[in-house]
Amino acid sequence: MDLRVLLPKQTRIVFFSLTKNHCNVSISMLQQNHLLSSKIKIAPQNDHTPFSKHFVFYKNYSLFILKVLRKSSFQEFLNYMLISEDIEEKNVNIVDVKIFPAPRKNGFNIIGKCDTFRGRIRIYPKTFNYCSAFRKKYGKNYLFTFVGNRARAALIHELLHLKYISDEKKVQELTDIYFSRYMKKRLEKDSNLISLHDLIFTSKKHTPFEGKMCYTA
Ligand SMILES: [Zn+2]
Repeated sequence: MDLRVLLPKQTRIVFFSLTKNHCNVSISMLQQNHLLSSKIKIAPQNDHTPFSKHFVFYKNYSLFILKVLRKSSFQEFLNYMLISEDIEEKNVNIVDVKIFPAPRKNGFNIIGKCDTFRGRIRIYPKTFNYCSAFRKKYGKNYLFTFVGNRARAALIHELLHLKYISDEKKVQELTDIYFSRYMKKRLEKDSNLISLHDLIFTSKKHTPFEGKMCYTA
């Protein structure tokens, strides 16, 4: 039996950070990974008339984002973040990967939304026109990297809203910190990513945080 189930939550966190038994940690993390990962789904379609002419593009976009967000290395990172922030995975009911962009709100593109009451998170894509222009300028690989990181940053951000609710400043600050940590881990593993990272983060226009990160429901 995993001893941590018998311990209070705070003690479990300390146990997690102090333990030398990586096997126990891995099993527990895998179970949590599986739980959060299984809640990430492509949202059922509803009214999307303005965008329906690019349906194939948006469908493929959402499938790519689903894969990116469910990837085990990213899920492990999210677990680490949830544990560090003491956010319980059970507070997340569903993460909807929306096929079509949200209508612009006050001139902003909505990247994600969090209904903190229902535990429902929504992640929205960039528009077809934006992606098309980006691809012409930077190529397909950079586009994939950009939209993938944009969705990762959005999920990190919306998960943090579950704890900090409407404290947008705090959530923005922590999103920046956690996303940078995630990128640092990735860069340590793959030095080829450095050039991609530089392109995306030295050009302010294309950071994952461009536009309005979220609309908290
Ligand atoms: Zn926000």
